[in-house]
Amino acid sequence: MSSRTDHFLDRTHDPVIQSWVASANDPCTDFPPQNLPFGRFRLDGDPDWRIGVAIGDQVLDLRAAGLVDHADMHRLMALPRNARRALRQSLSDGFRRNSATQTPWENALHPAHAVVLGLPCRIGDYTDFYVGIHHATAVGKLFRPDNPLLPNYHWIPIGYHGRASTVFASGHNFKRPMGQLKSGDEQPRLAPTQRLDYEVELGVFIGQPNTAGEPIPMASAEDHVFGLALFNDWSARDVQAWEYQPLGPFLSKNFASTVSPWIVTMEALAPFRRPFARAESLPRPLPYLDSADNRARGAFDVELEVCLQTAAMRTAGQPAVRLARSNFADAAFWTVAQLVSHHTVNGCQLQPGDLFGTGTLSGPLPEEAGSLLELTHRGQHAIALPNGEIRTFIENGDCVELRGSCQRPGMRRIGFGPCAATVLPTPQCAA
Ligand code: CA
Repeated sequence: MSSRTDHFLDRTHDPVIQSWVASANDPCTDFPPQNLPFGRFRLDGDPDWRIGVAIGDQVLDLRAAGLVDHADMHRLMALPRNARRALRQSLSDGFRRNSATQTPWENALHPAHAVVLGLPCRIGDYTDFYVGIHHATAVGKLFRPDNPLLPNYHWIPIGYHGRASTVFASGHNFKRPMGQLKSGDEQPRLAPTQRLDYEVELGVFIGQPNTAGEPIPMASAEDHVFGLALFNDWSARDVQAWEYQPLGPFLSKNFASTVSPWIVTMEALAPFRRPFARAESLPRPLPYLDSADNRARGAFDVELEVCLQTAAMRTAGQPAVRLARSNFADAAFWTVAQLVSHHTVNGCQLQPGDLFGTGTLSGPLPEEAGSLLELTHRGQHAIALPNGEIRTFIENGDCVELRGSCQRPGMRRIGFGPCAATVLPTPQCAA
């Protein structure tokens, strides 16, 4: 284990750990015993959500295993960091091969395919950031070729308040939204969006709250973060272009966002930290957004992919095709800790279950774009799919799936699980 992360690692990260849950030892699983992400599930016919931990192709019911005495995810997320680490330790020890807990825990285990996975928690407030500097530059160029980044970008983590009620769990399909569209000199009209797009993002889930009026300093910012999940912040680009001035996006962004069901904890991500650096020519962050720890290890090395399966591909039994891949650390101009400190600098209160979207995480290369807006240059260059279909924006029946994983030599690979949704036609009566 390298010195850059040593003091964050403990025995739960040991890559040699094998589990009595056989599928957790498969090198391809997203959920080896080194991951241990939390989510919510329910059993067929039971309306109550339970807290689960993913292990291989199984889900452990945390209360049935005797590890908690409630099913309140917010309460679990709000645990102090030490208590979270202790719970992770108990899970890791209990899943180890030859553990004495095998027999009692086997009764608390359910095959993942036999349970319903929901949102990982009830989402309180949702804030959408814009940390992807290559995305911000590429999109800025489409509108302002000579001046793609506005002057505030290098100083402020740009964000706006979104809406939590239409953040859906993976697998929740949604109807193509209606909106006001306007082209050229014509009058605006109401119609189904013709420029439906995805945004490859990570979701940041808040755990411990702060008191209203009390900013969270950089030194303790990550104590307030429970973990990360995949996040597709669907966007209607034509609606957005007409409505966004002067107050920013509104209905173009709040019809659906898709989040993966498992929160990969900050503890699980510890081996995959990276230094956070900026080009010398760029301004240093203001002191309230800076710390030695953040510079040394504030970024996270998360590989991201976005895949598309059209209705025709699904009918023909063809798998989803990858449209782009990128990496959180390469894409982001601000770290998770900086988002927390900035969000609270004015005294804003964060609460367990609050969600931040990072913003679209496009890499520096054109083929690493995290949205179709960038990949197709605002719809000017269609993408050819292997089966002969073409796409500029998302069509009805298309399923968009995000994938995420962390790997590093000498450590066990961990993944984020599924984050997928299919776009359904707008109902006839609305169109
Ligand atoms: Ca977004």
